[in-house]
Amino acid sequence: MDQSEHEQLLDVIIIGAGWSGLLACKYCLAEGLKTLALEGRDSLGGVWSFTEDRSCPGVMTTTETTSSRCITEISDFPMPVTYPDFPSHHDIIAYLKAYCARFDLERHIRLGQQVSSVQKIDGAWCVMLADGFRYNARNIVVCSGVHQHPNTVSDDAKFNRFAGEILHSSEVKAIPPDYAGKTFVVWGGGESASDVTLELSKVADRVYWCIPNGQWFVPKVVPNWPPFPSPLRKVVDHTSACAAPVVTHSWLLAFHQPVSAVDVRVQRPRSGGMANGRAVQPFFLQQEFRGACGCQKRRGDCQA
Ligand SMILES: Cc1cc2nc3c(=O)[nH]c(=O)nc-3n(C[C@H](O)[C@H](O)[C@H](O)COP(=O)(O)OP(=O)(O)OC[C@H]3O[C@@H](n4cnc5c(N)ncnc54)[C@H](O)[C@@H]3O)c2cc1C
Repeated sequence: MDQSEHEQLLDVIIIGAGWSGLLACKYCLAEGLKTLALEGRDSLGGVWSFTEDRSCPGVMTTTETTSSRCITEISDFPMPVTYPDFPSHHDIIAYLKAYCARFDLERHIRLGQQVSSVQKIDGAWCVMLADGFRYNARNIVVCSGVHQHPNTVSDDAKFNRFAGEILHSSEVKAIPPDYAGKTFVVWGGGESASDVTLELSKVADRVYWCIPNGQWFVPKVVPNWPPFPSPLRKVVDHTSACAAPVVTHSWLLAFHQPVSAVDVRVQRPRSGGMANGRAVQPFFLQQEFRGACGCQKRRGDCQA
């Protein structure tokens, strides 16, 4: 580490070198600002950088994007034409590394630099590292993400009488074969929950997916979508990404069911075309709604 770096007053310090930190770094440098990105882990890419560390939330061995490459790629850095519609986490890391190389970011990134505190002293930000070193800058950009610490629920009252084992998704890096024949409950409606649910549904006997705050469900793949890569595909993917919540909301309202009350029971994806569409597609078709009396019938079929 260059000692002089610690002594000079930088224009910008970016905390985190995940997707957001890399973009921030590129744009600060483009403005001619003296910039340094500090990343606590020993790799860039944030949640997309796979780790066996069970205290570190992020992708599983099988994760691929839920958003299509058309709406995920950076506007001035298209993904390689060889990439699939929904790139794997390996693809994403390779892509982010290529982004760093293209815009010469790596020499402005310091890995293994965990920021422990930030304090404003005499008009400048003093950034303290866990190892006791410090940096000074006129501006700070915080890109530390939202998935840094597992939200452990073991002490939550609602799980008091649950006799089974409780795991946080950060501890689930892959679904072991001995989960076959078992029943699971997945609690939560985010990206990790959708990943874990899909992979469990391929192995477990039954999976109940509980989404406390409601969630939109849209098919990931629909028939007759324009082929990829094509400019038309880009346009329809972007348009559908904007319109999807509206369309889905109408679909849910057709069942007169508030979104937050949806219970989803996921079973193994059916064979044939359905198994090819990943993630929410099987769930979309197998959603079950609680009837007015709490039964498992669709609201329209419930006689109560
Ligand atoms: C399983 C999963 C699947 C996802 N799929 C998609 C998808 O398909 N499409 C999509 O658009 N989004 C998806 N997301 C959302 C994802 O959060 C974003 O894609 C994006 O990676 C967020 O980037 P970020 O830089 O904001 O945060 P992060 O990727 O979390 O990066 C933050 C970085 O900051 C570092 N950091 C934090 N605190 C400190 C500190 N004190 N000192 C130093 N460094 C620190 C961390 O180590 C980390 O590297 C997914 C997320 C998950 C978890």
